[in-house]
Amino acid sequence: MKIYLSGHEYRYAAEQALMSFFPELRPEYSEGAEPEGDCVILALDGAKASAELRLNGRTARGEAEADGAVPESGTERDRLLQKLVKLAFFRAAVELRGSAPPWGALTGVRPVKLAAKYMRQTGLGPAETAGYMTEEYCVSPLRAELCARAAEYSQKADAELEENDVLLYVGIPFCPSRCSYCSFVSSSVEKSLALIGDYIEALVREIRAAGQLAAKHGMKIAAVYFGGGTPTTLSARELDRLMGELADSFDLSRLREYTVEAGRPDTVTGEKLETLRRRGADRISINPQTMNDRVLAAIGRRHTAGDVLAAYALTKEHFPGDINMDLIAGLPEDSPDSFRRSLDAVLGLGPENITVHTLTMKRSSRLSAEGGGIPAGEAAAEMLGHAYSVLPGAGFSPYYLYRQKFSAGGFENTGWCLREHESLYNIGMMEELRSVIALGAGGATKLVHPESGKIDRVFNKKYPYEYIASPGCVPELEKLLG
Ligand code: SF4
Repeated sequence: MKIYLSGHEYRYAAEQALMSFFPELRPEYSEGAEPEGDCVILALDGAKASAELRLNGRTARGEAEADGAVPESGTERDRLLQKLVKLAFFRAAVELRGSAPPWGALTGVRPVKLAAKYMRQTGLGPAETAGYMTEEYCVSPLRAELCARAAEYSQKADAELEENDVLLYVGIPFCPSRCSYCSFVSSSVEKSLALIGDYIEALVREIRAAGQLAAKHGMKIAAVYFGGGTPTTLSARELDRLMGELADSFDLSRLREYTVEAGRPDTVTGEKLETLRRRGADRISINPQTMNDRVLAAIGRRHTAGDVLAAYALTKEHFPGDINMDLIAGLPEDSPDSFRRSLDAVLGLGPENITVHTLTMKRSSRLSAEGGGIPAGEAAAEMLGHAYSVLPGAGFSPYYLYRQKFSAGGFENTGWCLREHESLYNIGMMEELRSVIALGAGGATKLVHPESGKIDRVFNKKYPYEYIASPGCVPELEKLLG
C-alpha cells in the first residue's frame, strides 16, 4: 500500500495504523506527487489531521483535531500529533471497512501503560479509565475494561516495588522440539541441544558478571524469571548449577517471586521439581496451549493432553508454589468448541494463573513459512469471548495484558490470576515499571529511567551458538550505568 505523507514525517504512526487494519498490506512510501490507485494520504495541517484511503476503487476520508493547544515542541507534541494522524486514519478505515478493530485507534503493544498513566494522573478508578480508553481511542468496551483492570494491578505492583528493585530474566533457549508457531528458538532446536554444556558455561559467566555489576549499583532483585525456550529441558543438575550461581551472585534479600517456565509437560520430572523448590522457585508454568491431542499434533508439540494432566499432578506433589497454564486461541485445527473444552479442563485443575494468548504469525515460524497466513479472527474472537466470560466467574481477574504484531484478529494476550496471585515479574516487565536485566540468548535488557520515561536497551545474541561466543549484556550495560 502506498503511503503519502503531507505536512509531517510520522512514518511509524502511519505504518502502525495501516497494520492494525490491513496487516497483509506492506507499506511503501510515495514521494513527490500524490500517488494514484490504492494508497493512503495522511496530511497534517496545524492541529488538524486528515486521511484519505483509497482501496479497490473505493475512497474513504477521516479527520481528527486536537481539543486544546498543541505544545510548541518536544515529545508531548509528537505524541499528540501522531495520535491525530492515527485517529484520522482510523476514521477513514472504519468507514471503508464498515467495522472497527478491537483496539480502535490504539496501536502500541502496551495499552495498559496508557490506562495506568491516566489513572495516576487523574486519580480516577477503572470504570472512568475504561470510559477514557473508549472515548479517546475508540477501544471496544470489553478491551477497555480489561485494560483498566490490569492498570489497577500495575499501580499496585509499582507501589510494592522499591526504587532500586530490578527484575532478572534468564533465557534458556532449548526445547525438546519446535512448535509450528514458534519464533523464539531456532528451527534446528533439536540439534542445538548439543550446545547445552557450552551454553551453561557462557551463562554462568554472564550471571557472575551481571551480579557484580548489580551489586556495584545497589540493585536488588525483586523477581526472577527463567524463560526461553523451556528451561526444564535442562537436567536437574544443570538447573541446580544455574540457580545456585544466581543465588551466589545477586542480592536476593528482597526477592518476592521466582518463576521457572516448565512449558512442555514432557520435560517435567519429580527430581527437577524438587530442585526448583529447593533453590527457591515459587511459581511454575506448565503450558498445554490446548488440551486437544489433534491440535497438539498439528502444532508440533510432542506430547498429549494426558501428559499435561500427569505433569500437573506431579507438580502438585513436589512443588508447593503457584502454577500458571497457557492456552492459545486461534491454533490450527482448533475450534471454539474444542477451545472451550481445553479451558474447562485447565480450570478443572485449579491453577492460580491462566494466560490466554492469541495465535500470532511470526515470519520466522514454520506455520508462517508453510503459508498458513494470519488465522481468521472470527474463531479466535469466539474463543477469547468465551474465556473472558468464564474466567471472572471462576474467580480470575485480568492482571497483565499485551498485544503483538500479526495476531489473529488483532487481539491480545491476557494473564488472569486468582486474588493475590498476580505475577510481579509479568506486570513489572510488561509495564516497564523497573529495569530488567536479561541474561542468556535472546535476552533484552531494559534500563528504565523513571524520571524521564527513557528506556535504554541492550540485546543479547538470539541463538545459542552466537551467544556462546559473545560477551553478553554486561559490557554494554556497564557503559550505560556509568
Ligand atoms: S515450547 Fe515455546 S519456545 Fe519451545 S518451541 Fe514451543 S513455542 Fe517455541
